[in-house]
Amino acid sequence: MNPVNSVLGPRRVTWEMTQVSTIDCLHWRIESKNKPDPDELTTREGKNLIDQLDELGTRRLILAGGDPLERNDLGELIQYAREKNIKLTLQATPSDKLVSKVINDFSREGFFRISLPLDAPYPELHNKFWNKKNVFQDTIELAYEIRENEMPLQINTVITSQSAPLMADLFLKISSLNPVTWKIYFLVPTGGDETFQPPGFHVTRIIFEEIYELEQEVNFEILAVEAPYYNRFWLENKTEELGINLEQYTSTLNPLSVEKVDEFLRKKITFNPKRFRRQPGRESLFINHRGTVYPGRFLPLECGNLRTQSIREIFRDSPVLKQLRNPLELGGCCQKTNCWAREICGGSRGRAYFFSGDHMGTDPLCFYHALKTMRP
Ligand code: SF4
Repeated sequence: MNPVNSVLGPRRVTWEMTQVSTIDCLHWRIESKNKPDPDELTTREGKNLIDQLDELGTRRLILAGGDPLERNDLGELIQYAREKNIKLTLQATPSDKLVSKVINDFSREGFFRISLPLDAPYPELHNKFWNKKNVFQDTIELAYEIRENEMPLQINTVITSQSAPLMADLFLKISSLNPVTWKIYFLVPTGGDETFQPPGFHVTRIIFEEIYELEQEVNFEILAVEAPYYNRFWLENKTEELGINLEQYTSTLNPLSVEKVDEFLRKKITFNPKRFRRQPGRESLFINHRGTVYPGRFLPLECGNLRTQSIREIFRDSPVLKQLRNPLELGGCCQKTNCWAREICGGSRGRAYFFSGDHMGTDPLCFYHALKTMRP
């Protein structure tokens, strides 16, 4: 089936409910404000968004900010989403409001999960990333409180060139918090402050090796975000371990489709089918506080606005989203190398856009391509 036409709606949507936050983040694409933008989506528009997701069969909504707890109608919107059976993640920042809300209200609200950012294993670096004293300690305490209240906890970590050498310590710290998921974001620069850069491709490969090892050891999910070549890396390693000749198989398929990977591997090994289905713009969308729709938080290309179009129309008709869904439209290294992994990888389109201005261009962190070009 043609992937461009077969998709009805996103599997997952992130909604930046507000830009208001008491905390800044220097390396996420978050511009915190003291007061709400008068133009941010209203409660009614928020409910309309939830209705549309329900109709489309989108079952996962990530409530993000700023700080979503700064919205007075948060409880009402959560309740509304629950009635529609939409699973929620509250992408929180450690704040006093979260402490009281988590303990007093949300533990009874049946949240799917709460996610907290933890970008370094030690206070100095994490506090520097978040530009606030004691934020590291607040995050750790809050994480324990969430777990003590038996709420599922997700930890989000942004890997930069500064934190990459600390992976082993990060892993120990995060394991001690007993999360259900650890999402490891490979930094996509967003301009402005150049202090924060992604790790190089050599280091990325080493981190992949570490993640692959860790995945075998832990009882929580580990996801590499904005580094979808981990899918290829995982597949190559897994098949090699099992003595499966992946090369022979992939040479018959170009580009290899997610469905075919599923079909092929399910006969051989057990794996989470969602593993290969996480690419921004293809499976998920980001909606900002004014209702503007983007493929993802890190790919600032406008695809439409909820105030003038439905999500269904935007997802189906946006030229950018159509391109992103079609692996044959990938340019740069994916096209040059005629890479078989285009369907299950495709590189970080946000990073490609930042470095080349072309959202279908080369993601410079793809070590498969980078190592090839270095060969004599
Ligand atoms: S060349 Fe493109 S599709 Fe292939 S591994 Fe690299 S980024 Fe992924």
